[in-house]
Amino acid sequence: MSESQRPSFKRILLKLSGEALMGEQDYGIDPDVISRVAREVADLSRLGVEVAIVIGGGNIFRGAGLAQAGMDRVTADHMGMLATVMNGLAMQDALENVGKFCRVMSAIKINQVCEDYIRRRALRHLEKGRIVVFAAGTGNPFFTTDTAASLRAIEINADIMIKATKVDGVYDRDPKRYADAQRFERLSYDEVLTRRLEVMDATAIVMCRDNNLPLRICNIFKEGDLMRLIMGEPIGTLVERSQT
Ligand code: UDP
Repeated sequence: MSESQRPSFKRILLKLSGEALMGEQDYGIDPDVISRVAREVADLSRLGVEVAIVIGGGNIFRGAGLAQAGMDRVTADHMGMLATVMNGLAMQDALENVGKFCRVMSAIKINQVCEDYIRRRALRHLEKGRIVVFAAGTGNPFFTTDTAASLRAIEINADIMIKATKVDGVYDRDPKRYADAQRFERLSYDEVLTRRLEVMDATAIVMCRDNNLPLRICNIFKEGDLMRLIMGEPIGTLVERSQT
């Protein structure tokens, strides 16, 4: 492999929303979508990139939605966190089907189903080339899996956090509603916060900012973008420390 073909990152944290696994469905997991994502992730791993994944649960349950319908918020968030464990197991299965070793590590104890999250053990898995899926968010109600992704990325010293969504970056307004919406190539954390751009919740952005963790937003439905991004192409939108 020549220098120019080397991956730009040694260790990444990939945040996949539950919706990313849903494809065109209204609920649950689309087997074709999860298999394709698993193949793309496995390709990165085969290049020697250490890959950790945080999966959301929005394709099954979101705590805020259940609470709005009258459920106790903490119970609802527990259900949301368990939904991320189910997604994690599905991703583990999909990765094993393409020949990669994977460990699901949960922030809430459910260790007959998957491992408990222990940072040092997670680092060991990564060093051995296993893909690690961090499930159950932060383990606490009132948080999101975006915040869990920032937290885990910082804990494992990831070089970058990649938020794979349904849109190919951050726009000044909703690109589905406005044909003239402009995509940002680059933003600072503070711009995201002050302009209230819908990248991630404020807690997640502040954690990235305070720990200087670069964040890239890309479209998981554009096949090959993940690999291009890892190889250094300026895919999507980069959020990083202000250059001035
Ligand atoms: N959740 C939580 N604590 C966390 C992370 C997640 O309580 O640290 C719950 C919360 O109810 C949330 C649900 O899990 O709505 C699913 O996560 P999220 O909404 O972030 O999933 P995504 O939007 O990425 O699919």
